[in-house]
Amino acid sequence: MIGIYCSDETHNAAHLVYYGLYALQHRGQESAGLAVNNHGAMELRKGLGLAGEVFRGEDFSNLPGNIAIGHVRYSTAGDGSVRSAQPLAANCRLGEIALAHNGNLVNADSLREMLTDEGIVFHTTSDSESILNLICQHGTRGIEAGIKNAMSLIKGAYVLVITIGDKLIGVRDPYGLHPLCIGKLANDLGYVLASETCALEALDAEFVRDVQPGEIVIIDKEGLKSVEPSRRCKKSLCVFELVYFARPDSIVDGVSVYEFRRRCGAMLAAQRNIEADMVMAVPDSGVPAAIGYAEASGIPYGEGLIKNKYMGRTFILPLQEMRDDAVRIKLATIRRNIEGKRLILIDDSIVRGTTLKRIVGHLRDAGAKEIHVCAASPEVKFSCYFGIDTPHREKLIAVQKTPQEICEYMGADSLTYLSEESLRQVCGQDLYCKACFDGNYPMEVPV
Ligand code: SF4
Repeated sequence: MIGIYCSDETHNAAHLVYYGLYALQHRGQESAGLAVNNHGAMELRKGLGLAGEVFRGEDFSNLPGNIAIGHVRYSTAGDGSVRSAQPLAANCRLGEIALAHNGNLVNADSLREMLTDEGIVFHTTSDSESILNLICQHGTRGIEAGIKNAMSLIKGAYVLVITIGDKLIGVRDPYGLHPLCIGKLANDLGYVLASETCALEALDAEFVRDVQPGEIVIIDKEGLKSVEPSRRCKKSLCVFELVYFARPDSIVDGVSVYEFRRRCGAMLAAQRNIEADMVMAVPDSGVPAAIGYAEASGIPYGEGLIKNKYMGRTFILPLQEMRDDAVRIKLATIRRNIEGKRLILIDDSIVRGTTLKRIVGHLRDAGAKEIHVCAASPEVKFSCYFGIDTPHREKLIAVQKTPQEICEYMGADSLTYLSEESLRQVCGQDLYCKACFDGNYPMEVPV
């Protein structure tokens, strides 16, 4: 998710959003969209697929406007249709407004029921539309009041970028479940709001700071204004952002994603001594942890799997059949690095276990002598309600089977998880949601 504010009105914000979405493509691959604000008039472009596909042939000079927001989506709520693709736009008493939302509301059903009872007609199945309606409905006293009112009613994980009138606005939920950072474009050209710092680098923008949990930031010709949180909660950044979701070159709330994963790998090595010839990763998100493991254990790191870079991330695809097809053509083995070797195979996490089972099979076919699987995070035993697409609890492999049974199911010689204590040590301060590992949700969730 990204928002651009160019202080020079002749600059084309849509073009910059397009580049930013490329850098954030890993956060969602089902649809991409942008909204351009040209003096309060909104133009919307969105479609199903990757940003490069959706905007292929788009002439951004035909989309003038100095403010724009963009979104790449993978659905955890609502359907995957183009209608539910974001940004969403509306015409309300405040003027034309466009909104992009990252996260998931836990009270989406009751909000929708309440709004429907009040006569609101919904055009999508997305929980983000309720947020948009609440802002519009309660915004007669201005956009800031509208957002505050919406924040008092919605529960769950939400990061929002909004544009209306001459403003770009960023909002982060009071728990700070997902990240949002502020950057400054070069030559004082304006501001960027982005889900991850990797988008700032792509735009040659300088990191300013993270938006704080519960904070609203409003950017207009007066500069950047911060509205203090009206409610303070214990900060609970989703630890899965660091474990899997964010790009390794991003810095999330001051933590290097790469370094976090590398330390998880080193902790794994400290947990259990395995005799092996090579440490290898499930690319890409297992790579930093595998390097950390190799450094700590002294066992050489090597490449055993080559990823087809032109495919999406299997975890992000919404249906199991799509995931199964994807795994088959996504990873190829480097036989010369594998044959006759005792391998330590590191992945960031084990959610369903289907991908790893197939990979272990590939490695056996390529002649691996032993395969010791290590997950650089603890057992995933609880579902996420905050915008990370984990399946229903009963479908999580760590709920269905014991570690020994999972090891046998995958056909591995051993299986090691990062312990919850090791993860706690890597995290340091207790500022994270780790509920998918320990079941301690930062707020009440639907049962
Ligand atoms: S439940 Fe897990 S995936 Fe969801 S926000 Fe918490 S840590 Fe992240």
